[in-house]
Amino acid sequence: MTATLIDGTAIAAKVRAQVATDAAAYFAATGKKPGLATVLVGDNAGSQSYVKSKRKACAEAGMESFGFELPKTATQDEVESLVARLNADPEVHGILVQLPLPEGLNEESVLNKISIDKDVDGFHPVNIGRLSMKGRQPLFVPCTPAGCMVLLEEAGAQFKGANAVVLGRSNIVGLPAAMLLLHRDCTVTICHSRTKDLAAVCREADILIAAVGRPQMVKRDWVKPGAYVIDVGINRIADATKKSGSRLVGDVDFDDVKEVAGAITPVPGGVGPMTIAMLMRNTMRSAQAKLA
Ligand code: NDP
Repeated sequence: MTATLIDGTAIAAKVRAQVATDAAAYFAATGKKPGLATVLVGDNAGSQSYVKSKRKACAEAGMESFGFELPKTATQDEVESLVARLNADPEVHGILVQLPLPEGLNEESVLNKISIDKDVDGFHPVNIGRLSMKGRQPLFVPCTPAGCMVLLEEAGAQFKGANAVVLGRSNIVGLPAAMLLLHRDCTVTICHSRTKDLAAVCREADILIAAVGRPQMVKRDWVKPGAYVIDVGINRIADATKKSGSRLVGDVDFDDVKEVAGAITPVPGGVGPMTIAMLMRNTMRSAQAKLA
């Protein structure tokens, strides 16, 4: 059996096209563009590149992006004062503080200062708290797990009563992904570094989301035939056949697992493109909510 490929690039393009349509309608109604403020502290090359892609995606969708850069020597007070200024700015509908922050800064305190109605990353404890409670609605859901859910929906996964296994329990991926699956009436198991016999737990999964950061850890005999497999992992491994000497792989051994899964995301081109698309969608929704 060869799994159906879940094409994250194509699905993300569809989400972004809808955001562009909504942004044009918003502009026609208000004469203004929905606005995302990005806050980059320090000179981490990876973070610079992520922020650049997010700003480029804003421009492509007809949205405004306001870029703020602070040196790595910025104080807690300087970062939080900037967040306070952006909270008060009516042109800003979403605030993204690129993580990780340089050592010495208290990330939790900064995230707590973002107004929950501009928390388009969905990391504010109130948004995460609401996501974790029955019958409560967060204003925003974290982008990567929200993107996983869209991929599953587009691939035709049935959620009600399905066994879902999430590998990883981080605040930004594993935990919110598990909550989203629970809200869709899956029976959810969350695995982590202390879980016993991971392979056996994974084999029970109709839906498997891997977010551990361990290259190609999930093998064919971990996967139930026909399962939906979403690979969040982004890992660089050595590859002498590439000019760069390396390549990106996920947490799932793609070539092995595609022989047994029903549907699977590739890396790259799976979850990655969805994260930015969902950030755009959250920012658009924030702007629309302020019109209502
Ligand atoms: P974290 O390092 O914060 O969390 C990793 C989780 O995996 C932890 O819960 C950890 O368990 C668990 N874990 C680690 N090793 C094992 C193991 N051998 N067996 C079982 N569980 C294990 O990572 P993130 O959640 O931030 O990211 C996970 C992956 O997803 C990374 O590769 C990252 O690059 C990628 N990522 C991709 C994004 C995208 O847009 N595609 C966005 C965000 C992340 P414990 O809690 O016990 O330590």
